[in-house]
Amino acid sequence: MSRFDLRGIGMTSQRTRDRLVVRLRERGIENERVLGQVASIPRHIFIDEALAHRAYEDTSLPIGHGQTISQPFIVALMTQLLLEVNPLRVLEIGTGCGYQTAILAQLCRKIFSIERIDALHPGAKERLNALGLRNAVTKVGDGYEGWAVHAPFDGIIVTAAPTEVPPELLNQLAEGGRMVVPVGIDGVQQLKVIDRTPDGFVTHLHEQVRFVPLVAGTSAE
Ligand code: SAH
Repeated sequence: MSRFDLRGIGMTSQRTRDRLVVRLRERGIENERVLGQVASIPRHIFIDEALAHRAYEDTSLPIGHGQTISQPFIVALMTQLLLEVNPLRVLEIGTGCGYQTAILAQLCRKIFSIERIDALHPGAKERLNALGLRNAVTKVGDGYEGWAVHAPFDGIIVTAAPTEVPPELLNQLAEGGRMVVPVGIDGVQQLKVIDRTPDGFVTHLHEQVRFVPLVAGTSAE
């Protein structure tokens, strides 16, 4: 049996999840498939028990090792932007606790996800298994390098912020594919949507966001 309570924290869980969906709708998330996953994926299993009662608030929360689980609105927004190109194979940089990975696993054929902190990887893997998401493949590695053996990807989602778009990730993006990436320095980052067209890369700017930095190399911490 799984050590995770997949049903939820008490009887109120489905109601609090539904309330989160209402809030995301109000903030402009329109993709029903994305909203459906926010309603069905149990976010509380991705968070330490002491904070689980806050799991369905629209806020980022600490997951240890100086990292966070992303805010549901940002997860939903980035997923919505990525789905506009109907990606089959997606690369995620920054697995963290695995929440974004789980949402994407339900919405695309195969998701590859890379995390640089060794200590975060087993937990993420265990949660994805507990949810039965066998199309999610994870590894410890440096996201700046991408995952060349599985490239090209129709979609790349970067969930930590580099100061410049990593060139190797651009190389691994398929023609017709899209990358969603926050770019900038600490605290002032801009969400960029980069499409690879037959004529080259086309970039669109979206809102200001706040992510932990994308750090080169791996860590056994
Ligand atoms: N996708 C997560 C977000 C986790 S926060 C979610 O759904 O909540 C961002 C994660 O990116 C952190 O776990 C951090 O360790 C990781 N990260 C930072 N730099 C990285 C790199 N170069 N390669 C891979 N992961 C990286």
